[in-house]
Amino acid sequence: MELSKITRLVSQFINDSDFNKVPEIGINRIYDQPLIAVASANDKLFAQLKNPDIIDKNHKNPKEWLEDAESIISYFLPFSAEIRQANKGDGLPAIEWLYGRIEGEECNKKLREFIVEEISRQGGKAVAPALSLDFKVKHNKSNWSERHVAFIAGLGTFGLSKSLITEKGCAGRYGSVITNIELQTTIRQYEDLYDYCIMCGACISRCPVKAIHEKGKDDKVCQQFIDEEIYTKYAPRYGCGKCQTALPCEDVNPNK
Ligand code: SF4
Ligand code: SF4
Repeated sequence: MELSKITRLVSQFINDSDFNKVPEIGINRIYDQPLIAVASANDKLFAQLKNPDIIDKNHKNPKEWLEDAESIISYFLPFSAEIRQANKGDGLPAIEWLYGRIEGEECNKKLREFIVEEISRQGGKAVAPALSLDFKVKHNKSNWSERHVAFIAGLGTFGLSKSLITEKGCAGRYGSVITNIELQTTIRQYEDLYDYCIMCGACISRCPVKAIHEKGKDDKVCQQFIDEEIYTKYAPRYGCGKCQTALPCEDVNPNK
């Protein structure tokens, strides 16, 4: 199976799927066309994710999810202008953003399932860690970090806000599928963790609870705000995304 075929199928899914819209609040499109890249299962950077300064020892390598893993298909789903525009104001997150976060993740799950099924149909094996019963999140750290995988696959670099900045910005969601099919690996166009962040500090002033500062982001402060202020008001939805909208890195790579 060629990457070009996977790219075409994923594009069709995003164009056609009813999961990529929320008619009840008039959202015609949650995501625009995705960016897709491929990491090698043998990339040495995966082992570094077990370092407690990066994630921790519980983070699993591709071959711990799929024994004969060869490649990881990683993608970025950029939020549409409808979702991003709605969240540009200050204060509480826009309703459109909260639907994009929750219904958008449902669409992301369906896309992972779709890719796994397509690879199986072509005779390959595939696992989407985020769909596995073994997928765990503890103290805000998961045993498969979609953002870190996207960095390794060449999709983009981190920003001061800890979002991953791609050629289509940082406002969106990530996903990945591990397969035993060998696909051509994407060449990373960067060397440093923060190459695409221009350190402008705009995300610092966007955060309603000052969770972001010159040296990075305090995940606990962010999570507490989302749990106590947002989830209690909007359950089952939650999110914030002020540090992904109305910024130079919202929908482009600001370092280009
Ligand atoms: S707003 Fe500026 S400092 Fe913050 S992540 Fe984006 S580019 Fe980096
Ligand atoms: S998601 Fe909201 S609370 Fe969390 S860091 Fe970003 S702006 Fe701040």
